[in-house]
Amino acid sequence: MSQWVWSGLRWGIPTTRYPARREDAPGVTPGLPVTRRLHSLLSERAQSGIDRLVDRCPTGALARSADRVDVDPRRCVHCFRCAREGTEAMPWEAGYEWAATTPLPASGPLGRPFRRSAHIRVVDAGDCGACLHEVKQLTSPYYNLHRLGFFFTPTPRQADILLVVGAAADQMRTALEKTLAAMPTPRTVIAAGACALSGGIFGSSFACSGGVGSIVPVDIEVPGNPPPPLAILHALLVATGRAQPAAWAAAPDEAS
Ligand code: SF4
Repeated sequence: MSQWVWSGLRWGIPTTRYPARREDAPGVTPGLPVTRRLHSLLSERAQSGIDRLVDRCPTGALARSADRVDVDPRRCVHCFRCAREGTEAMPWEAGYEWAATTPLPASGPLGRPFRRSAHIRVVDAGDCGACLHEVKQLTSPYYNLHRLGFFFTPTPRQADILLVVGAAADQMRTALEKTLAAMPTPRTVIAAGACALSGGIFGSSFACSGGVGSIVPVDIEVPGNPPPPLAILHALLVATGRAQPAAWAAAPDEAS
């Protein structure tokens, strides 16, 4: 016991200050690949290197046009292949405020009454365990989501936010639909992780629907595979109107 008291006195409060202060501790984010602009005078060798880079992406998240290589964050599974292509590697951006509202959200942010108390029902719709693990980290002393008024609840009848992880396996279709139907309004649906957004490496198949959005209307999307806890925390803040959403889901002209 005294050992814990001494460690507490020695190390102080380890909880992140986010969102009051930006968190830049090492390891809080793996980053995300971002658009790469292409020089108009690329050599033939560089051109074929870029084509190879695009082909190597296992989920088709990279798309090449005449002057750029774009990344679809919904599909990126963080395999880091495009980061290891030497001079042709895609640029990566550190950060974690990745949560974006869908182009046609079913509902806006929850109102002011939810800013100090919002309850979250988590549904594992075919997760491998990675995204769920990051969600669980939110209750650790480092992230401590309770300080921001967020609480997990086992019952959808008390939930304001439905947080879904996993590739939307067909076996979970009914459970997802029933969970949403049991939730009171207003409510918000967050899909977290590349699998929940697009099916990830599973895509659309006989066993999965290719993303949660094909089963229930999604309001907020969090890319990443898995998204780090701070990205999920950002999504919760966006859901309650306490943070601005990221711009990547907007039309290209709006985002630039
Ligand atoms: S990290 Fe992997 S999945 Fe993501 S864009 Fe690069 S190659 Fe594609």
